Amino acid sequence: MDERQSHMLLALRQITENVSAQSSLDEAIALLTVSIRKATGADCCSLYLIDGFKKYLKLAATDGLSKNAVGKARLRLGEGLVGSVGQRQELLDLADAPSDPKFKYLPEVGEDEFFSFLGVPIINQGELLGVLVIQSKERKQFGPVEESFLVTLSAQIASIIAVSRSEKDTDTDSLRSYKGEQGTGGIAIARCVVWQPEVQLTDVTLQHTQDPEVQQELFHQIMFQLQTEMDLNALHLSENGKKDAAFGYMSGYGSLLDDTTFQDDVDTEIMANGYTAASAVKTVAERRLSELLSDEDHDRYLDLRDFAEIIISRLMNFTTRAPDLKEDVVLAVRNLPAALVAELRHYKVCGFISMENASNSHTAILARDLGIPSVSGLHFDINTLNGHEVIVDGMNSEVLVDPSESVLSEYRQLVTLGREQEDLFSKEKFKKGVTLDGVRVQIELNAGLSHEEMTDLPEQTDGVGLYRTEISFMLCKSFPNEQQQCDWYKGVLRQFKGLTVTMRTLDVGGDKSLSYLPIEEANPALGWRGVRITIDQPQILKTQLRAMLLAHAEYGNLQIMVPMVSRISEVVTVKKLLMTALKEIEEQTGRQIPCPKFGVMLEVPSVVYLMDEILSMVDFVSIGSNDLMQYLLAVDRGNRKVTRFFEPFHPAVVRCLKYLCDKASEKGVPIAVCGEIAGSPLTALMLLSLGYTELSMNYSELSRVGYTVRRVSIADLRKVGQQALKLCHSEDIRKLYVDYAAPLGLERVVVPAGSKYVPAGD
Ligand code: PEP
Ligand code: MG
Repeated sequence: MDERQSHMLLALRQITENVSAQSSLDEAIALLTVSIRKATGADCCSLYLIDGFKKYLKLAATDGLSKNAVGKARLRLGEGLVGSVGQRQELLDLADAPSDPKFKYLPEVGEDEFFSFLGVPIINQGELLGVLVIQSKERKQFGPVEESFLVTLSAQIASIIAVSRSEKDTDTDSLRSYKGEQGTGGIAIARCVVWQPEVQLTDVTLQHTQDPEVQQELFHQIMFQLQTEMDLNALHLSENGKKDAAFGYMSGYGSLLDDTTFQDDVDTEIMANGYTAASAVKTVAERRLSELLSDEDHDRYLDLRDFAEIIISRLMNFTTRAPDLKEDVVLAVRNLPAALVAELRHYKVCGFISMENASNSHTAILARDLGIPSVSGLHFDINTLNGHEVIVDGMNSEVLVDPSESVLSEYRQLVTLGREQEDLFSKEKFKKGVTLDGVRVQIELNAGLSHEEMTDLPEQTDGVGLYRTEISFMLCKSFPNEQQQCDWYKGVLRQFKGLTVTMRTLDVGGDKSLSYLPIEEANPALGWRGVRITIDQPQILKTQLRAMLLAHAEYGNLQIMVPMVSRISEVVTVKKLLMTALKEIEEQTGRQIPCPKFGVMLEVPSVVYLMDEILSMVDFVSIGSNDLMQYLLAVDRGNRKVTRFFEPFHPAVVRCLKYLCDKASEKGVPIAVCGEIAGSPLTALMLLSLGYTELSMNYSELSRVGYTVRRVSIADLRKVGQQALKLCHSEDIRKLYVDYAAPLGLERVVVPAGSKYVPAGD
């Protein structure tokens, strides 16, 4: 390495360190341009950043061009040398830039004196963020040392810029857009109301009291009041058919309110140490919070912090009561506290923004259950939202603040389109899935909790294709006993009497945890999960199988399915246990009970190569495409950074699905798909084209998929499927199905307006 190269290497490290230490993006990029110019000896260095709509590259910082042009000078993608580097995402090193046909003269930037030009794209996770340029007055190419310096530097600063931009306004116009970590539902547009506890733990200074009895009494009164309000609200949610929301909120906060040791500790701080009630709550809460922090129990940490702040707010005579609002609002919260849930009916909430992102956050549970668009996991000052007009785009996990009239009207159109479509679908919600050429497609429901209040639900489906039993387990404080489980299962079998209900045995581990079965693993997706756990804990599996069989004895419409099977011995073991349980129940009841159909989920790639053996042992199979894709493509299904690689049209996925369908049909074993790809119209078309005729999905997707199925022909789709199997790029395969759907008037159904599809480009 020559001296120049080692000088550059050293500079590279220093620049990256200095830039990442800056507290704002503006400071970081200003420093960046100055440092790069110095290190390379160029006469000018400039950084252009892409705007929120990915149309323009705007001059964001410069050392050498006119400072007045910063934030103003812009080039369309593809326009000029900078636009060309951005569009082609390729480096450009020119000795005489002005003579290049692509050169575009911008009078305001003052680059008349520069000839040489070296531009490199800044790309983060496949997405163009900007273009970095150095220029010099001399007519000479910069050459390989500068090229590799800029390329390396741009790769290193890409993630710094990406993080800062997600936290900061991405557009110098009035619109601010923020990308969240998680989104649910469609689009909401309204004025934003920020709610946060009036007092935060850090605001409370510790004080002593002369009257400990009074403080103690005050504390217990507040606790009682809070408990009553929460119970009332849970009841209110349940009465309105929002059982899941009620459960979600109760499970997090109920345990805190019921925790007598918390109350005992606060009593001790008041009575023994002489603290005021607010100081005592702060002391106890902070002690517990530091334990939770070291346990890395984020969800519980947020619950406890909010809970303590609300008690303190009330103790200090602040009310958490929200104003009665007549108009729709988007509610922004740091984390949604249960006490606010108690107040929700005072609001007309049409959208949620939650700054923090607890994995089982109440905001997400509530929003999903109430069908309200939401975005969570945002990193900026929540107070900047209060009173501002916002767009919550749950589909793209985005929040837009102070949108211009033109942006607003675009989104309003999307809302109207979405509503019109929903009306269109729901008009046909009781129609069966029969294609134009008369092929019957079974459209089934994925469920996890009882939907007994929806009495017409069975008429909208062909049965339950996946009943996730673990959801009920998650809402308990310890393993439910046989009777408790039997009651749940009977409820479901009763509601769907006459239709088949496919119940999955307990599927925990991985991303689904039970508080009473903690599993600490470095790599949970590949760890102790699904059937591996239930085989290792046969008493849990046996109790569940017995409860299912007792329910089946009464209604006769159960199928049992085993998750995460990866080896033949697992099928043998569970089947054996099922037979033992059946015999026991028969002896116990003195009745002969028909054995429920027994099947396994195909979601681990190893079973693809065991199909002959597995098919000879089961009555049916069902593809868990969420996990199958996760393992086949080596893409963590819950990691946002790699979402774009979680690609259902990946040729390997398509070919694998075809193979599984053909194998099962050859042996005459029914095969269904119950992962998310069954519930999206475009991927459902792909499944139909490969031979699948049994699809199971969430409730909100039933009518949309049914609508699609009734407007397509299996014979035509089979031809599309044949073409798809010959292609080797996801985007080409996806396009085949969009092109098939468009002339049938289904384009907006298969590609909903406003969805920002980003292909991985395999
Ligand atoms: C799947 O993996 O596709 C599936 C249906 O199971 P879950 O999403 O519950 O893991
Ligand atoms: Mg799965």
